[in-house]
Amino acid sequence: MTSLTDAPRIDLGMPRIPSVRGRLKNNPVDGAKRVLLAAPRGYCAGVDRAVIAVEKALEHYGAPVYVRKQIVHNIHVVTELEKQGAIFVDEVDEVPEGAHIVFSAHGVSPAVVNAASDRGLHAIDATCPLVTKVHREAVRFARDDFEILLIGHEGHEEVEGTAGEAPDHVTLVNSPDDVPNIEVRDPDKVVWLSQTTLSVDETMETVRRLRERFPKLQDPPSDDICYATQNRQVAIKKVAQEAELVIVVGSANSSNSVRLVEVALENGAKAAYRVDYSSEIRQEWLDGVASVGVTSGASVPEGLVKEVLQELADAGYADVAEVKTAEEDLMFSLPKELRKDLQGNREERALGGRRSAEG
Ligand code: SF4
Repeated sequence: MTSLTDAPRIDLGMPRIPSVRGRLKNNPVDGAKRVLLAAPRGYCAGVDRAVIAVEKALEHYGAPVYVRKQIVHNIHVVTELEKQGAIFVDEVDEVPEGAHIVFSAHGVSPAVVNAASDRGLHAIDATCPLVTKVHREAVRFARDDFEILLIGHEGHEEVEGTAGEAPDHVTLVNSPDDVPNIEVRDPDKVVWLSQTTLSVDETMETVRRLRERFPKLQDPPSDDICYATQNRQVAIKKVAQEAELVIVVGSANSSNSVRLVEVALENGAKAAYRVDYSSEIRQEWLDGVASVGVTSGASVPEGLVKEVLQELADAGYADVAEVKTAEEDLMFSLPKELRKDLQGNREERALGGRRSAEG
């Protein structure tokens, strides 16, 4: 089996953007300036797997390799993969027949899988296994004729994929405020599931209100909000208790990154901002601020965080303390379609070697 650890990597670590060093001033503040760096932060196992899947597909099949939607919600990652020959499309009908297409970490509905198959595309499914788990739950509860209240954000790709598994059984619940308007066929057969990247606290509030309305509401068999989302929220909560300002590195369409800003504000930070790149940090954010918290969403390469730390160091925040609340060592194997082709390639090479030895 192909291991992720020995997979050669395209260097997504350091951003290829013009240097902006020395842009921020080292203004005096009351107290010692310092950075509290949240851990865990950055890449989760599902993102790592999806990015490596595109890299390996490019290496094995050659460019172009098509990717439906952004492979992960980070503009830097997408731009770097485009440079290597990935072409990002919105729908499978934009892809030439017979080409290779990678489905993103956020997952796809069966309708998309079927459309790709009808078009004769070679699909590599990089859906995060923790998203696939929620899909399976949706299929199972629909088969048992439950009404599924899916807590998630309308229009998010993951929600579209999960809802697409059982469209006749799923009702979307966007927020706690939606709850009074939810109607169900049979209040005795209702279950809630959720998007993997939500705020844990807000989701629990939504569930509390749903249960007030539907006392027989069933819980999912296990947490749908994934370990990476939960761990990053726990870490930033701790940081936010001591940081006056929190900077979250992540893209605007990254649900878990946006949630980190909200969680920081709800847990003590006086201000919290999301940036894609260090060049977006504004001087006025730092006015009078002694302690800055830093974290990054699950789709963010560590190089982007390093750039932020370097710019903060220029502004006098060179003292960095890591605030670690959990260890992460989860890894997923590559998508099975890719593993099979990579394995075939290795076997061919081995056979070729034997033949020439025999010949
Ligand atoms: S955030 Fe969670 S569900 Fe999404 S890709 Fe990462 S591990 Fe998977």
